[in-house]
Amino acid sequence: MKKYSLPPLPYAYNALEPVISAEIMTLHHTKHHQAYVNGANAALERLEKQRKGENPENIRGILRDLSFNLSGHKLHSVFWPNMAPPGKGGGAPGGAIADQINKDFGSFENFKKQFSDAAKNVEAVGWAILTYDAESETLVIYQVEKQNFMHPPDLPLLLTLDVWEHAYYLQYKNDRGAYVDKWWEVVNWDDVDKRFTKAKG
Ligand code: MN
Repeated sequence: MKKYSLPPLPYAYNALEPVISAEIMTLHHTKHHQAYVNGANAALERLEKQRKGENPENIRGILRDLSFNLSGHKLHSVFWPNMAPPGKGGGAPGGAIADQINKDFGSFENFKKQFSDAAKNVEAVGWAILTYDAESETLVIYQVEKQNFMHPPDLPLLLTLDVWEHAYYLQYKNDRGAYVDKWWEVVNWDDVDKRFTKAKG
């Protein structure tokens, strides 16, 4: 089986400053994301051993670990390219995603407010995500608690915002709201639009 591996960042560790510090980006990518990659690979090895009769542990614990770590890997793999250095990122979206946001939320400002509210109000640690449901032809915002998905499977990740404390605490301390408000300056709308166009098919 091919192992999961840590994808490189599409920019330098200090590229998102002053919005997100190089120290946060370095730790977040090389320690936290790497740990999810390692955890997913380890869980799959435990499952493989179990198939060979070499691992008597309860399967439920293995599958929980797999879900947690693999979800962490997938979420972070979208989170990094969802961002771009200030100047390149930020501002208002263009293209098809802009039209869809206006259709579903009334305005970009309305969307930004609802997405920010979702992120700021995640209980403890988790994520705010934007998805697109091709069945109802609408954009949908969801919260993810920890890394446990509370949104229906098969909805693609278009935009993800990590609100675990490791994503902001070294710079913003306990002020998650300030981090969320500032984060809009590094959103890579070209990347979001690409994901949306693909999701629409
Ligand atoms: Mn994280």
